[in-house]
Amino acid sequence: MDLNLTREEAAFRDEVRAFLDEKLTPELKEAGSLTTSVFTDKPWNLKWQKILHEKGWAAPAWPVEYGGTGWNEMQKYIWASECARAGTPGLSPMGLRMCAPVLMKYGTPEQKAFFLPRILAGEDYWCQGYSEPGSGSDLASLQLRAVSDGDDYVLNGSKIWTTHAHFANRMFCLVRTNTDGKPQQGITFILLEMDTPGIKVEPIITLAGEHEVNQVFFDDVRVPKANRVGPENEGWTVAKYLLEFERGGAYAAALAVGIEKIKTIASAERSDNGARLIDDPAYRAKVSDAEIAVKAMEITEHRVMSALSGGKNPGPASSMLKTRGSEMTQTIDELVVEAIAYYADVDQRPAREPGSNVEAVGPKYGLTAMPRYLNNRAATIYGGSNEIQRGIMAKLVLGL
Ligand SMILES: Cc1cc2nc3c(=O)[nH]c(=O)nc-3n(C[C@H](O)[C@H](O)[C@H](O)COP(=O)(O)OP(=O)(O)OC[C@H]3O[C@@H](n4cnc5c(N)ncnc54)[C@H](O)[C@@H]3O)c2cc1C
Repeated sequence: MDLNLTREEAAFRDEVRAFLDEKLTPELKEAGSLTTSVFTDKPWNLKWQKILHEKGWAAPAWPVEYGGTGWNEMQKYIWASECARAGTPGLSPMGLRMCAPVLMKYGTPEQKAFFLPRILAGEDYWCQGYSEPGSGSDLASLQLRAVSDGDDYVLNGSKIWTTHAHFANRMFCLVRTNTDGKPQQGITFILLEMDTPGIKVEPIITLAGEHEVNQVFFDDVRVPKANRVGPENEGWTVAKYLLEFERGGAYAAALAVGIEKIKTIASAERSDNGARLIDDPAYRAKVSDAEIAVKAMEITEHRVMSALSGGKNPGPASSMLKTRGSEMTQTIDELVVEAIAYYADVDQRPAREPGSNVEAVGPKYGLTAMPRYLNNRAATIYGGSNEIQRGIMAKLVLGL
C-alpha cells in the first residue's frame, strides 16, 4: 500500500486539520491530554461526540445508510492520525464501535431504528456486561442467570470490571438462559437499562486511584425479551462478533504521537547539569527500537485496512493488532515515565524543573504519566488477555 498521500488525500487531511483547529477548544484539548486510559471522562467525550455528530463525522466506520461518513480506509486512517496528533478526547467505543456493529448485523429492524440514531448522537451511554467473577478468559463459563418469565427474563448474578457502568444508562450483556449442553450453547445477548430496579453498581478503584471499573449486581432484574439481540441461547456467536470490533482499531497513529512526545521530553536539558536523556545511548536505542516497531505497526494496520475495504469485519487479524498495539502502548508508557523521572517529575506534578519539556507535549501531561502507565498495565488484559489472543492466532491464523 502506498503510504504517500495523493493530492486528494492531502486535501482531505487539510480539511480535517482545519476542522480540528476550529472545533478542538483548549478545554477539550486539555480533557484529551488528561485522559489516562481508553476513555476520556464522560462529559468531555460526549461533548466532543456531539460536535462530531453535527458535522456528520461521529462514526467514520459505519455504513452511510446508518449515518457513517462514506470515507475510504485511507480517509479513516488520516482522520485517526490527525485526531491523535491534535489530542482529541477519546470517544467511548462501547456504543459506537462495539454495540452498533452488532445491532447492524443481528438487530431487528425496530432495534436498529431505535438504538442506532441514539448511539450516533450520544444520547445513550453504554457499558459492556461480559466478564464475571470467575469468567474472564473462560467467558463461556458465565453464570448470570436469565430465567424466562412471560415476556421478560429475570436476571440474577453479577458482572465485574464493567468499565463506566457508573456513567452508563444502558448495558449490552451476556446472560445464561440454558445450563444444558456445551457452555457456549446456553448464552443469550441482551440489552438492558441501568436504572432497572434490582441493579446495583459498586466501584472498584484501580491502582492509579481512579474509578473507571465496577462490579454490577443483579437481583431479580426484569428485562423484556424484546431487548434480546439474536436468538435465545445463540448469544455466543453475537458476543464473538462484537469482540472482533473491541480488539481491532487503529493504534499506530497514537503510538507515533507518543514517540514524538518522548523525544520532546527527552531532548530537554536538565537544569542541574545540562545533560539530555536523549543523548544517553541506552535510552536512545530503546526509543529507536520503539519507533521501528511503531512503523511496523503502521504498515500492518494499513495491510489489515486494505483487506477490510468493502465493510468486512476484521476477523482474527484484530487479535494481532490488539496484541501488538497494547504491548507497544506499554512500551511507550515506560519510556515516558523513565524520561519524566530523569527530569525529576516522577511525583506526578506538572513540570517544575526548568529543564523539563513535559508541559510542551500537552497541558498537564506530567500529571497523567504515572496514572497512564498504571492504567495501561490492563491493556494486555482487557478485551481478552494477550495470552488468549495468541491462542486465537495460533488456531485461526496459523492453523495450529
Ligand atoms: C481495566 C479493565 C477494564 C475492563 N473492562 C471490562 C468491561 O467493560 N466489560 C467486561 O465485560 N469486562 C471488562 N474487563 C474484563 C476483562 O475482559 C478480563 O479481565 C479479561 O478477559 C481476563 O479475565 P480475568 O480477569 O478473569 O483473568 P483470568 O481469565 O483469570 O486470567 C488470569 C491469567 O491467566 C491467563 N490465562 C487464562 N486462561 C488462559 C489460557 N487458556 N491460555 C493462556 N493463558 C490463560 C490470562 O492471560 C491471565 O494472565 C476489564 C478488565 C480490566 C482490567
